[in-house]
Amino acid sequence: MEKVPPTPVPVYDQQPEFYHHQPTAPPNAHVQSPVQDPHVMAAPQPYYHPPAGHPSGYNSATPLHALQRGPTPVDCPICGVREMTRTEAESGNTTHGWAAVICCCFCLGCIPYLMSSLKDYNHYCGQCGTMLATWHNSGRVEVHQNVRQ
Ligand SMILES: [Zn+2]
Repeated sequence: MEKVPPTPVPVYDQQPEFYHHQPTAPPNAHVQSPVQDPHVMAAPQPYYHPPAGHPSGYNSATPLHALQRGPTPVDCPICGVREMTRTEAESGNTTHGWAAVICCCFCLGCIPYLMSSLKDYNHYCGQCGTMLATWHNSGRVEVHQNVRQ
């Protein structure tokens, strides 16, 4: 007599532990909307100078290469402050020399013009005091500080 082993019965009682959660929206989904509050959206704005009026009081700044003889509001590339430049006339020995020459040639009728145009004017930042540019009597402007574009 040969004993036949019983046919193994497949076991189906072990359910796979997978539960597909239904993407059911919570009842308060319309309250917790992913759309951010419009007030919050509008808040983070990059700082920019308001178009109407500058905090420094100067609505327009002059590029350093376009400086003239007198004080001019510029955007300082060093400290970034828009401030009226402080000008100092360079009165070197050459100016005195020219003055002596002009005294010898007193008949010249354009002495005041020559006197005013013989000097170079250094522009200093009114905020940090850095020498930004030099206005030469030839009309050329020497920019000492590179302007960050
Ligand atoms: Zn400055």
